[in-house]
Amino acid sequence: MTSEHINVDDLLLAHAAGRLPEPVGLVVATHLALAPQRLATYREYEAFGGAMLEELSPVELSAGAFDRLMARLDDDAEPITTRDAGRGRAAHDPDVPAPLRPYVRGRLADLPWKHYGSVSEAKLPLDESVYRTRLILLKAGKAVPKHTHDGQEITVVLKGAFNDGIGHYGRGEIAIADAHVDHQPVAEAGEDCLCLTVTDAPLRLTGTFSRFLNPFLRF
Ligand code: ZN
Repeated sequence: MTSEHINVDDLLLAHAAGRLPEPVGLVVATHLALAPQRLATYREYEAFGGAMLEELSPVELSAGAFDRLMARLDDDAEPITTRDAGRGRAAHDPDVPAPLRPYVRGRLADLPWKHYGSVSEAKLPLDESVYRTRLILLKAGKAVPKHTHDGQEITVVLKGAFNDGIGHYGRGEIAIADAHVDHQPVAEAGEDCLCLTVTDAPLRLTGTFSRFLNPFLRF
């Protein structure tokens, strides 16, 4: 991974500084809820992260994908960790970590799932002017069509695990893909894989049938 690509620490730092838009902040908050071993790092970033960001010159910030994300940041974006605190006290699905509960009321099964073969997706109620925020359920042992991205795809695993040929991602782990990544996520055998995914541009299929399928791909 080069400095042109954002990584999980970039996201933690930006979240600690309150600089992430709501959908991406939701991914990071979910990551921290499911991977509490990362909290110590996050607390360190909280302690000095904001100051570091402010000291970086615009030129330094303009190099690479991290800047493309930062450039989209809305100054008045509110940190997800404080949004809707106290809401969503109804019975929750055990597979829904606390940061997601304001967006997933009740049971996961009650969401408006759309099914595409082995892949199902449910849109979450967040602003879609820049980002699309979805839960993706991939059946055990099955694959998402091979694709790349015109923008960023940031995913956190809620349940199960997947391998995309580049990395293996288990519960709580974040996968970041962009235009440099051509991959095919495959759910591990034995358990369906549930993920929260945020994208800022459509996926672009790169497999055999890609030129036929791309016009129809909506997310
Ligand atoms: Zn992807």
